[in-house]
Amino acid sequence: MVEKNETKNEEKKSISFVEQFVEEDIASSKNGGKIQTRFPPEPNGYIHIGHAKAICMDFGVAEKYNGVCNLRFDDTNPSKENTEYVDSILNDIKWLGFHWGNVYYASDYFQQLWDFAVWMIKKGRAYVDEQTSEEIASQKGTPTEPGKPSPYRDRPIDESLELFNKMNDQDSIEGSMVLRAKIDMANPNMHFRDPIMYRIIHTPHHRTGTKWNAYPMYDFAHGQSDFFEGVTHSICTLEFVPHRPLYDYYIDQLKEYKGETDNIHDNRPRQIEFNRLNITYTVMSKRKLHTLVDENLVCGWDDPRMPTICGMRRRGYSAKSIRDFINSIGYTKFDALNDYALLEAAVRDDLNAKSCRVSAVLNPVKLVITNYPEDKSEEMEAINNPENEADGSHTITFSRELWIEREDFMEDAPNKFFRMTPNKEVRLKNAYIVKCTGCKKDTNGNIEEIYAEYDPQSRSGMEGANRKVKGTLHWVSVKNCLPAEVRIYDRLFNVENPSSDERDFRELLNSDSLKVLTNCFVEKYLVEKKPGSFLQFQRIGYFTPDLDSTPNKLIFNRTVSLKDTWKKINK
Ligand code: ATP
Ligand code: MG
Repeated sequence: MVEKNETKNEEKKSISFVEQFVEEDIASSKNGGKIQTRFPPEPNGYIHIGHAKAICMDFGVAEKYNGVCNLRFDDTNPSKENTEYVDSILNDIKWLGFHWGNVYYASDYFQQLWDFAVWMIKKGRAYVDEQTSEEIASQKGTPTEPGKPSPYRDRPIDESLELFNKMNDQDSIEGSMVLRAKIDMANPNMHFRDPIMYRIIHTPHHRTGTKWNAYPMYDFAHGQSDFFEGVTHSICTLEFVPHRPLYDYYIDQLKEYKGETDNIHDNRPRQIEFNRLNITYTVMSKRKLHTLVDENLVCGWDDPRMPTICGMRRRGYSAKSIRDFINSIGYTKFDALNDYALLEAAVRDDLNAKSCRVSAVLNPVKLVITNYPEDKSEEMEAINNPENEADGSHTITFSRELWIEREDFMEDAPNKFFRMTPNKEVRLKNAYIVKCTGCKKDTNGNIEEIYAEYDPQSRSGMEGANRKVKGTLHWVSVKNCLPAEVRIYDRLFNVENPSSDERDFRELLNSDSLKVLTNCFVEKYLVEKKPGSFLQFQRIGYFTPDLDSTPNKLIFNRTVSLKDTWKKINK
């Protein structure tokens, strides 16, 4: 009984408030029970994990309720948009594991929107304002004080029609005129104080070229695009809450324009808002991400330190771990700051289940097995993934000279040091038990070589191999390994919430966010691995081949350490 109830509660909890609204609408047969959502990126940058939160919601609702989610590029500002961004967005959504119905563009509706705007002017509900943007802003008023009407507010309809056409001429001057809706300069909702509908932009558009010179504003394009497409649920983030009345206002106008005044069959999209994703130690603002790229503060949009989807992919995060993280934090009506550690925990969970276990030595020192023949070598079996037998195994070659981690040896070790130290035994992973016999040092006392003897009866899997030894070390064979560069990434910023800090965000960058190790060795098997492979360098962390890695120059990115060590170090 108890168990049943718990399951029920669990199920209830897992329905977000957005899904509750959707279920209400289905129950009341709104829109005939149809569910259609959209993800509406502006192609003015690469998408980041915040967008992934919106994507999971938009596509998730459609999938769950047998609907469809379309993509719509909100391409109404040609000065910032281009096809590079369009292509990257398509690619990243696919990689995240979602499938869209159609791909639409707000620019497909430029003619329809224009005609609708002309209708609004003819109805006396829009006018061309020839003031500067500063003048218009200075008349807006405050939430408690009404704004001042523009001197052009009551100009004749014909004059506005003529000027609106002029706005779209090739020789119109940017900033000289805007089209404004004539609504209510005293409305407590500032968005109703004669919002701008159109402005002049002469940058050629990535799809419509130089056909248009006047472009609709977001508020005048978004809801209408939803309506044209038949979107039932227009899900967006909380900053659009105050825009919702204007969204509904324009749709009322649009329905009147189309002669659809029947409120019984009111097939209007319903705007629902949820909280934006913010994560500690990074920024989500596209403007700031642009600055990081443009000022070479990172190495491009897909720098593994970036919160972009392409950056996370390059770093070795799996699509599933990103989706799992987003599921785990859920959707609310309150803005919050989520801990980066939660994202990393989701990455570790997924990579633990799917990564291939391999050996790499990042800070090498030579270990010589003095009783092992010089010309001998052996192939040892290495299990790929103890979490999944089906992943099989590969072989790693053992020989007399090995690389091990410098930190794994101590000449004068305390009792609890279960790694290599004179006269103690350790197991070499997948191979033999060895006993350290000493080391060679240079004149400065630096360790140059370590010596050990192996027990031939102790090979992993052999009878007698079960003898208890406390430490197990990873290694690679000097003759059978490959040199590699390893890039260790850390938090991009030094402060938890760079967006709320008064200092310039550039000053808050973590100068140790990338460490490049150039003297590493990896087992030969890794030469086959391609970017996107999930690897665990045993005892070190999760890694993936970088996009620039080649068989002649292997490069690996650290995805995440095995354990969360960051908090301890910084407190
Ligand atoms: P811009 O400042 O350029 O408008 P934006 O981050 O809002 O940037 P859009 O391309 O307009 O980018 O966003 C597309 C969709 O993704 C919108 O519905 C937006 O609400 C959502 N989105 C953007 N950032 C986040 C975030 N941090 N968390 C959740 N959703 C987000
Ligand atoms: Mg936006």
